[in-house]
This record gives sequence, C-alpha cells and structure tokens, in this order.
Amino acid sequence: MDIRLGDILHMKKTHPCGADTFEVLRTGMDFKLRCTGCSHVVEIPRHKAEKRIKKIVREQEG
Ligand SMILES: [Zn+2]
Repeated sequence: MDIRLGDILHMKKTHPCGADTFEVLRTGMDFKLRCTGCSHVVEIPRHKAEKRIKKIVREQEG
C-alpha cells in the first residue's frame, strides 16, 4: 500500500472524538497519525494501520 507523508487516511474505525480521518505524520515500520478531529497523535504498526484504512486522500495529486 502506497502511503506517504501528508496523506489523509479514511479509517474503518472512527476515533472516540467521532472523526474517521487521520493525517500521516510519519511512515515506516510504525505509522504516526494525527486525528483530524481532535489532533490526538497515535502510533500504530504499519500492518495494523493498513488493515484499518478505507481510503487514502492525497490532495497534491488530486
Ligand atoms: Zn480524535
């Protein structure tokens, strides 16, 4: 799965704050994601993150 810094990830599971989109702050073995609703930052292993992704939004490339 092609995930880059700055991508917005639509997740299958919503964050407790109600938002279901996260911004990618760091990629690699572990992803660092920031909730776009409450700005909470989470770190989760790549394989877990990929399972939860519903859709990737990349504004720079339309
Ligand atoms: Zn949140």
